[in-house]
Amino acid sequence: MTDDLKPCPFCGHEAVAIHSSWWDNDEYDVECFNGECPVKPHTCRETKDEAIAAWNPRAVYPAVIREID
Ligand SMILES: [Zn+2]
Repeated sequence: MTDDLKPCPFCGHEAVAIHSSWWDNDEYDVECFNGECPVKPHTCRETKDEAIAAWNPRAVYPAVIREID
């Protein structure tokens, strides 16, 4: 179902959903798959659908740059 994933918002590279489990944890990570990505965004949730839902909007929100004195 990685077809539902939007590309990385920072470099445009393909994103991947990875299931990982360790100890008692089951989680799904979505991350940029480009080793050269300047940001390497990453999110993780308990289910794959949640991880994808959390990842995809990041590709459409405009950036906000605020300078702090
Ligand atoms: Zn990227």
